[in-house]
Amino acid sequence: MSLLSIRGISKVFPGGTVAVDDFSLDVASGELVCLLGPSGSGKSTVLRMIGGFERPTAGVVSIDDEEVTHVPPNRRPTGMVFQSHALWTHMNVYKNLAFGLRLRGLPANEIRDKVEAVLELVGLAGYGRRMTNQLSGGQQQRVALARSLVLEPKILLLDEPFASLDQHLRERLREEVRDIQQRLKITTLFVTHGQDEALSMADRIVVMRNGRTEQADRPEVIYRDPQTPFVAGFIGTMN
Ligand code: ADP
Ligand code: MG
Repeated sequence: MSLLSIRGISKVFPGGTVAVDDFSLDVASGELVCLLGPSGSGKSTVLRMIGGFERPTAGVVSIDDEEVTHVPPNRRPTGMVFQSHALWTHMNVYKNLAFGLRLRGLPANEIRDKVEAVLELVGLAGYGRRMTNQLSGGQQQRVALARSLVLEPKILLLDEPFASLDQHLRERLREEVRDIQQRLKITTLFVTHGQDEALSMADRIVVMRNGRTEQADRPEVIYRDPQTPFVAGFIGTMN
């Protein structure tokens, strides 16, 4: 049933910080789940453990019924877009997107077709020859998203991808990502500390605090009956 299954994962960092504490979650194929919570609540650490960038100190992560808890990132069917997207500025857009496909040994014509299709998908058709440092912040985030999507991951992991952008652009990109996600039917985890972002784009929201789940439900249920100060306080400011 669920494409992603997380069973009781914890992360204790050297020094003793408990970043994630016995966290479990099931995500169905095609679902967009937002991990929502204040800074330091463990959202990024959960995402990094799903992507393989951090090793859990306890618990199990499975994708498609296969345990991946200790599998390295490049051998997982996941694609991650980090908060700071770290595009390769010495390469043009095309090469940024083609790089991973080259590593996989795809023939040049297949690479070209895939890159062109994904550029079209993110609204950057014709931008292949631009250097990434000549693009706006929003365009760079679209390239970062495209760089993940072109590798056709089963699960897309987005860690506050719009954090550095202004409110207007955030709202536009949020709609674009939601639209792309639904068109591809790609299973997605989206980390954010923005209540409005989670409420407007998620199929399901997991509200986190201190490395644990405080409330997990559909946005309309959480909006109607918020069980956490983090969401209740936000809704209070709206009324
Ligand atoms: P969020 O993404 O919700 O802001 P994080 O997952 O980044 O939260 O962090 C959760 C907690 O773990 C915080 O207290 C943070 O300081 C701590 N933490 C995160 N990464 C590390 C690390 N590499 N080493 C030590 N502590 C860390
Ligand atoms: Mg974070």
